[in-house]
Amino acid sequence: ARALVSAVDRVLRHADFVRRMQVRTNADTADDARRARARGAEGVGLCRTEHQFLGERRQHIERLVLADNDQDRKVALDALLPLQREDFAGLLEAMDGLPTTIRLIDPPLHEFLPDLTELAVRVATAAEPDPKDVTLLAAVERMHEQNPMLGLRGVRLGLTLPGLFALQVRAIAEATVQLRQAGLDPRPEIMVPLVGSVRELQLVREEAERVLAEVSASSGVTLDLPIGCMIELPRAALTAHRIAEEADFFSFGTNDLTQTTWGFSRDDVERAFFADYLQNGVLTISPFETLDADGVGALVRAGVEGGRSTKPGLHIGVCGEHGGDPESIHFFHEVGLDYVSCSPFRVPIARLEAGRAAVARGGAA
Ligand code: PEP
Ligand code: MG
Repeated sequence: ARALVSAVDRVLRHADFVRRMQVRTNADTADDARRARARGAEGVGLCRTEHQFLGERRQHIERLVLADNDQDRKVALDALLPLQREDFAGLLEAMDGLPTTIRLIDPPLHEFLPDLTELAVRVATAAEPDPKDVTLLAAVERMHEQNPMLGLRGVRLGLTLPGLFALQVRAIAEATVQLRQAGLDPRPEIMVPLVGSVRELQLVREEAERVLAEVSASSGVTLDLPIGCMIELPRAALTAHRIAEEADFFSFGTNDLTQTTWGFSRDDVERAFFADYLQNGVLTISPFETLDADGVGALVRAGVEGGRSTKPGLHIGVCGEHGGDPESIHFFHEVGLDYVSCSPFRVPIARLEAGRAAVARGGAA
């Protein structure tokens, strides 16, 4: 077994030597980041900060989203700051010296709100409903959406809910200052999710730059952090030349891009309809597994070309599931991406395929 491990290691090192694309990892915690680094990840391409609020911490987001006045909102935000600072310091420390892309929160809101039906039934069937439940029900009804994945998500939530993105940027900035002062080399990059219009990114950038300047002034530490965005909506890919005006980098989110290009719900791909549809041979590829080069891939190509027509050399990667799929990796090499980012256990495969793509296709793009 040891001989096999060292043979695989030799092959991977050879692939590392020839590949052009970097391989980063998707990691939400310091532990994931360390595991991926041990497998050769050269950075974090996506930290999904909403995942840091699953489980016990879910209530923080619920409280913030449902707050209907500035005072309650401030209390909820203040409680978040130390948690996020600690999360980011841990992640950045684990990735010391390597680029670490932290995505501002992109929560499917329904996962963070109380269940509407359950609450409505409780209020309707109580002899004397708890006034707190009645208020809560009104708030949850106000936020309820028929299609949460196509609603108040990502940048839309950030622009609608004052203070949330600013708080995360502050936590990133303060964690960076803390580590720099301890002699480390944290390299955070701030990523904005679900951008569809350059205006959205411009507004977030203005706010982020203001916060970075404040933390920089009070700490005396220069904070020149890259600010970029996900390209995961067809409109973003098609207007990439505009979006690039405000972006220091792009990262393709092929999960959402596939969903919104095909009109298939990504949450239902394991359900009967979708599985049968594929099995019956209607589609020749499973688009959530292998990149659909003619459709979604055409948008990726357009996004790369658009972005680099405004900013030659714009740094571009991919962090959707396709970033760890061998065939898709060859496509990303060919269109000229700088890196792929995938889950920690796929990092070795991605290194290998990025190497094979370079051998098969040369520098490409
Ligand atoms: C994507 O949409 O491809 C992506 C990486 O973001 P998420 O899966 O978190 O929506
Ligand atoms: Mg997405």
